[in-house]
Amino acid sequence: MLAVSKRVKQTKPSYIRNILKVTQQADMLSLAGGLPDAELFPLDILTQAADELAQSPSIFQYGATEGLTELRQWLLEENGAAEDVLITTGSQQALDLIARSYLNPGDKVLCEAPSYLGALQVFDLAEAEIHTVIAEADGPNLAQLEQQLANYKIKLFYAVPDFQNPSGHCWSLSKRKAVASLLAKYNVALIEDAPYRQLRYQGEPLPTVSKLSSYAAFHLGSFSKIATPGMRVGYVRAKQALLAPLIKVKQASDLHSAQPMQLMLLATVRHPSFTEHLDKLTNTYRTRRDYLAELLQQQLSDKLEFNVPQGGMFIWARLPHHNAMSLAEAALRQKVAIVPGDEFWPSNHTPDYQAIRLNFTALTEPQLEQAVSRLKKALLQCSPM
Ligand code: PMP
Repeated sequence: MLAVSKRVKQTKPSYIRNILKVTQQADMLSLAGGLPDAELFPLDILTQAADELAQSPSIFQYGATEGLTELRQWLLEENGAAEDVLITTGSQQALDLIARSYLNPGDKVLCEAPSYLGALQVFDLAEAEIHTVIAEADGPNLAQLEQQLANYKIKLFYAVPDFQNPSGHCWSLSKRKAVASLLAKYNVALIEDAPYRQLRYQGEPLPTVSKLSSYAAFHLGSFSKIATPGMRVGYVRAKQALLAPLIKVKQASDLHSAQPMQLMLLATVRHPSFTEHLDKLTNTYRTRRDYLAELLQQQLSDKLEFNVPQGGMFIWARLPHHNAMSLAEAALRQKVAIVPGDEFWPSNHTPDYQAIRLNFTALTEPQLEQAVSRLKKALLQCSPM
């Protein structure tokens, strides 16, 4: 039998990707995924963008590893250069490229707890030692952050400051500034992962933490949540010198991300109707967020506690009386899928066994109503701890 590598063996499979198979059953309602609603994909704009591809036949040729120059330019910040942007196969690939470029086995990476599962998998595969700092509603606990930075040789700090997956938290301006200055003080690089940044339902956008940083910072963006995830286009913005090793790894990994998809996305985001699409998307998701919050408040307020997030895709709820994994199993029997919170802790840490993540973007209001009524039945069947 061919032996599997140690790093793959020690990486836990994604519960969410596994549960996706179950949620594809016709009668299952899923609050589990991080999926945008396919009914809201901007198909008219995408079709027009696809038609334009025929006018650029060379787009179907091999291309540059860095990505299409016009798309990179479109993604620039003021005073930036195209060299400061690398197009990736989803922002997930950017995480992998950073880990493979900068981490040796045993290097220390600091993550928020809870944290995005896909990032934890990448750091496991890189055989990093994962440390955590508590994610509070307005950003990481600063005393704990400084304690970690001062006492361990942390190399990278991975964070999702805008509407975090899974907690929905959005960092305050003061914590953004405080984190940026702590990272500079201890010379720790930042990976700011921001796929939900454009899905804001209230309040004004805050500056990115990478913009406030004076030390090395990578800002990761994605078209998955605002256009479509299946096109698999994301990007990483950082100083050219920081990106150079990533380009080398990407050459070895997939040569470059699919050019027709990059061009289609550029035409899509430049389309005069794209702003209208974004408005429709955020209005629909805001209504669904409010609806789910109202249902939970009305029907389950004695069984779970939660805050309403200002954006993103998830409500993170705590169960004062129940174990989340038992509830997730009871919920599947009632044909509703949820994700138990334990999945969002690194494997060598004690997780919160009493939290669940609920997605509100993929189901319509009547479906959300049905899903909450099934969740209520599951809670009644599930014995309290
Ligand atoms: N980062 C976070 C925090 C995510 O939630 C996701 C997707 N669920 C990704 C990265 C990966 O997104 P992409 O489709 O751009 O690879």
